[in-house]
Amino acid sequence: MNDDSAPGGQLGCSAVALKIRILAAQGPKLVYRAEAYEEEDQFRDRKWVCQHEHETVEHALICGMAWLNDRPDARGSRARLRPL
Ligand SMILES: [Zn+2]
Repeated sequence: MNDDSAPGGQLGCSAVALKIRILAAQGPKLVYRAEAYEEEDQFRDRKWVCQHEHETVEHALICGMAWLNDRPDARGSRARLRPL
């Protein structure tokens, strides 16, 4: 086991630590997409990818972080109190 915890990447999730990475996609123009993967997955299989075409890495990163925060099945850090 390696024990290098990435600086600044702590999100307070418990069970599975999902990480966000940014993917650059070449189309008619260069766009960026956010991808989520499990930190402990040695293959870093993608668990989610955003469907937008972000023009900057920063926007894609914000999108990915927003998705992480909005995951209804995120365990631990958030109580599920939504009335739906
Ligand atoms: Zn997005």
